[in-house]
Amino acid sequence: MVQTEIDDSKHSADVVVIGGGVIGLTIARALAHRGAGEICLIERASLGHEASFAAAGMLAPQAEANSQDDFFRLACHSRDLYAGFASSLHDETGIDVELDTTGTLYLALTHHDLVEIEKRYEWQTAAGLEVEKLTASQALQLEPCISQSVRGALRFPHDLQVENRRLLSALANSVAKLGVTVLVGTTVESVKIERDEVRGVHTLRGFISCPNVVVAAGTWSSLLKLSQPSEKRAMMVEPVRGQMISFDARPQLTRHVIYSPRGYIVPRRDGRLLAGSTSERAGFAKQVTAGGISAILQNAQEISPSVSALPIVDTWAGLRPRAPDSLPVLGPCDEIGGLFYATGHYRNGILLAPVTGELIAEAIVTGITSPLLGPFSPSRFDLVHV
Ligand SMILES: Cc1cc2nc3c(=O)[nH]c(=O)nc-3n(C[C@H](O)[C@H](O)[C@H](O)COP(=O)(O)OP(=O)(O)OC[C@H]3O[C@@H](n4cnc5c(N)ncnc54)[C@H](O)[C@@H]3O)c2cc1C
Repeated sequence: MVQTEIDDSKHSADVVVIGGGVIGLTIARALAHRGAGEICLIERASLGHEASFAAAGMLAPQAEANSQDDFFRLACHSRDLYAGFASSLHDETGIDVELDTTGTLYLALTHHDLVEIEKRYEWQTAAGLEVEKLTASQALQLEPCISQSVRGALRFPHDLQVENRRLLSALANSVAKLGVTVLVGTTVESVKIERDEVRGVHTLRGFISCPNVVVAAGTWSSLLKLSQPSEKRAMMVEPVRGQMISFDARPQLTRHVIYSPRGYIVPRRDGRLLAGSTSERAGFAKQVTAGGISAILQNAQEISPSVSALPIVDTWAGLRPRAPDSLPVLGPCDEIGGLFYATGHYRNGILLAPVTGELIAEAIVTGITSPLLGPFSPSRFDLVHV
């Protein structure tokens, strides 16, 4: 049920999830599937209209990875959950999230790019991962729209893409059907903590008591106050702006998502072709700028000169939530009982949504934190006085 007022029966919950982006929605849904009791998701504006709406929807852990580290393992695990995630959402809501299995193509357009993709090919094949090395002519045969300057390419057959805006609609529909109370237009100001335990949340519309809170407020996560006037964890998640362009590309230029080290293009089923992106520290300003759009156009045309003839139908920007080490912040807060973080997903929140939902819900319901989350614990940050 989506509400804008806290009614008398909703002054308490078993779990409050703060933030209605892809992460908060996926966690609320996973909690409902596990029978976690009364779940209340609180969103200050409307559901899924921040970074999760702005994203390109690429689920491509192999395309950009330089080593088989903890993050890579988490990301591949989440990608591999996507087929089941998409089909269960379809069963629950009738919404097709357009999970695309064509794969990702990563182009080398300079000598330096070629050296880099050779390294990527070597470590991934040595690790037993599936990746195909293509000559320039094989790449051109596969996707004739790409630049004639291509020197070689890698194809990642298991990397995917999803229509993230349809995903958000499906998740919103699913949580409503599963009985999650969704409060939109409701800002959480602070989390009330007494004797090192969560007691509830103060919102601009009133207090909701609860023993468990999940902070999934994206790039605004650091702005939430904790009420206990002692030591608090510094959650320095900062916004990193990303701008995007959407073209009308009917008939579609490409079947694959195509990357270069400087940009990417993403074909959508409805004939849009997305191109991205920028990485800018511009505070909380979500403007689209001339410089940003010009850089994206240049990089998209480097991948495929045919892009220059396409009409631009839309531009937008979103704020990626980035922690100081660029890794996600996932799991319970050791010092405060009932406080969980699921933030800092930076460039990979759409990709990491299924694994985040499953493992955060598991930690709350069973009290067991998966070893997969260990390296991303909020405890890796120092305690500071705020
Ligand atoms: C241009 C661009 C391209 C991207 N491409 C990809 C991609 O291809 N693949 C990929 O995996 N990821 C991609 N990302 C990253 C991805 O979009 C993010 O990592 C992800 O959306 C983060 O989800 P979130 O739910 O944490 O944050 P958000 O979607 O920002 O949601 C946070 C929500 O919390 C709410 N909120 C904040 N404060 C409060 C409060 N005090 N009270 C109540 N509600 C609050 C906000 O209103 C917001 O709705 C991209 C991002 C951008 C900007």
